[in-house]
Amino acid sequence: MIPYGRHEIDAADVEAVVDVLEHQFLTQGEQVPRFEQALCDYTGARYAVAMNSGTSALHVACLALGVGPGDIVWTTPMSFVASANCARYCGADVDFVDIDPDTRNLSLTDLSARLQSAIANDRCPKVIVVVHYGGLSCDMKAIRALTEPYGIALIEDASHALGASYQGRPVGCGNWSDACVFSFHPVKSITSAEGGALLSNRGDVARRARLLACHGITRDPAEMVGQADGPWYYQQRELGYNYRLSDLHAALGVSQLKRLSSFIDARRQLARRYRSALADLPLQLPSDGEDGTWSSAWHLYPVEVLRHDRADVFEGLRRKGVGVNVHYIPIHLQPYYHERGFRPGDFPAAETFYHRVLTLPLFPSLSADEQSMVVTAVKECLT
Ligand SMILES: *Cc1c(COP(=O)(O)O)cnc(C)c1O
Repeated sequence: MIPYGRHEIDAADVEAVVDVLEHQFLTQGEQVPRFEQALCDYTGARYAVAMNSGTSALHVACLALGVGPGDIVWTTPMSFVASANCARYCGADVDFVDIDPDTRNLSLTDLSARLQSAIANDRCPKVIVVVHYGGLSCDMKAIRALTEPYGIALIEDASHALGASYQGRPVGCGNWSDACVFSFHPVKSITSAEGGALLSNRGDVARRARLLACHGITRDPAEMVGQADGPWYYQQRELGYNYRLSDLHAALGVSQLKRLSSFIDARRQLARRYRSALADLPLQLPSDGEDGTWSSAWHLYPVEVLRHDRADVFEGLRRKGVGVNVHYIPIHLQPYYHERGFRPGDFPAAETFYHRVLTLPLFPSLSADEQSMVVTAVKECLT
């Protein structure tokens, strides 16, 4: 079965991890700061805090922006559940903004309409978690313009979008948001096995994130209440977590990041080939959004099946050895969110998309032959 996504490990990655095992600290050594610096160098962000998952980084991002009980956080229903759960961990309520059927990202029209009524009803969100679905950045400038007048903070869930660009800048640069989160799960642009990071240009957010990801403990006398007892001294300032990344994972991340550009180039080539090979079929293909300043990381290749039964096509492709998948079941339709009052029909664009979508295999080492096999199988299932 050709999977929808797959990581790429080479000899240099293996060597980097083995070197840590044989010669370095396994945790709290030099590799994590190196990885954080490399992420800053790549994106242009001022600060990066590596963590043990993207989900941890989303949780910490919400906490660092002051999200707590009684607050409201908005996100898109067309994402992985972690984009909404991060707010629930903080005791906040979640609501959603429907998607734009073209980009599949959060809809600016719906955002604007919901903001008007939220302001009228004094139910303004404290934070909006925007998701760069499939690796294509949201229109951050436009979202910033709509939300800034109300003091709403923005978190980018850029789990799909490391290697993408927006306005000619790498996603993660921190120009249009308060925090940006990446995931290094094996299906993402690069992997550290498990891992994530929070990037920000805000010193206060980065400092707070670092504290919260390490038990709420500081060893910096400048951050302490009163005087340090001595050189052994540390202080717990708030209730934090152990969300640290290990040096083994960070070493893999550093090694992988060196190949990010080649991974993205390979994904882009494959996406172009799908676009021309599938053009005449009854499918809605993902928009490239490529205009020189705005380019996707091509994390996913989600197509919408327009005239056939999606379940039939899904099963047909699986039978032919094509490991298609569905990204995503809208978050508000999950039982956990149903119990919180959401119902089918609440976000119709996301639901329509869900009923049609199939993710085709796309990863850097997908060979031309394998891709041709996928294309042939798709054609057979649609006739
Ligand atoms: C993968 C992913 C996450 C979670 O990342 P983990 O590192 O697996 O915790 C969050 N949001 C989106 C959109 C993702 O795709």
